[in-house]
Amino acid sequence: MNALVENWHPDIPQDSHIELSVVVPLYNEHEVITLMYQRLTTVLTELAITYELVLVDDGSRDGTPNAISHLARQDPNITAVFLSRNFGKEAALTAGIEHAAGAAVVIIDADLQDPPELIPQMLDAWRNGADVVCMRRRSRAGETWLKRASAHHFYRLLNTISDVEIPADTGDFRLLSRKAVYALQQLNERNRYMKGLFAWIGLPTTVIEYDRMPRAAGITKWDYLGLLNLAFQGITSFSTAPLRFVMGSGLLTALLGVLFTLWIVTKALLLGDPVQGYPSLISMITILGGVQLLSIGLLGEYLGKTYYEAKQRPVYLVRDVLKRGKSVDNMTA
Ligand code: UDP
Ligand code: MG
Repeated sequence: MNALVENWHPDIPQDSHIELSVVVPLYNEHEVITLMYQRLTTVLTELAITYELVLVDDGSRDGTPNAISHLARQDPNITAVFLSRNFGKEAALTAGIEHAAGAAVVIIDADLQDPPELIPQMLDAWRNGADVVCMRRRSRAGETWLKRASAHHFYRLLNTISDVEIPADTGDFRLLSRKAVYALQQLNERNRYMKGLFAWIGLPTTVIEYDRMPRAAGITKWDYLGLLNLAFQGITSFSTAPLRFVMGSGLLTALLGVLFTLWIVTKALLLGDPVQGYPSLISMITILGGVQLLSIGLLGEYLGKTYYEAKQRPVYLVRDVLKRGKSVDNMTA
């Protein structure tokens, strides 16, 4: 444990002799779990450091929980966290990070799209003083053109309008120092767009580029609707720019309306032109009605976020935790 961390926050976990925790969220990853475990363990044993593998079962419906329990009973380096249901990747990551005891925490996908072989390089960057080591995707093999293009544009849009700079093309694959983990734990919002939270905490960050692999086995848990939702969450959690945009367009339409009215009145007074235009009236009403409903919907979205935050429900619930093969926890957040 480095001294900086100790001074920074006295509340270090009791297992602080662990140097590295590797957090893996798993949702229906039965097909890949053995391969993932083998590849990770190979890398970690070669490093010759004390480590733990934090496997978080995000309410899987296949053989994943059984496979995790099985591994956890064999390998004392595994901490298995079972969530009470599927809470989504962001919550699973939060659970994993909160259960990790290491001085450094690496977050990695279960499907081996993020190569575990890069972990030594991440550790080097951390030892050289980085609190956050971000992994930037140079390429994304095995992903559709549409997914790559939409991801590319989404990150740029988000950066243009959000209050913090979220590094482009970085996923959740990254290393966090204990200090960064502690900083992250201060952000106790329910709506956890992790990439945004990671960026919000700041701290010295190193970016390493890598080539993203195709999934080793199994299928992606995201469909386009899910990704669209995540993108929308990302934007509304980290920016109120959409509200300002709506306000701007309201101002603009009102201005146009005033000009239009002036024009009609002048025309009627000067040219004696009778006011006409039932069709134009209808089209104006429908357009404005649409814009208004849309704006109310957007407002509602932000209000809904506040509503969820106000409830102060836990981000996830834990069904069980296995540490060194033994169950240590029941139904606590
Ligand atoms: N995941 C999770 N909960 C979910 C969905 C996904 O824990 O509700 C995990 C999944 O098991 C994997 C990681 O998040 O380890 C990334 O998921 P996936 O590979 O499906 O996403 P993609 O790489 O296609 O963006
Ligand atoms: Mg994947």
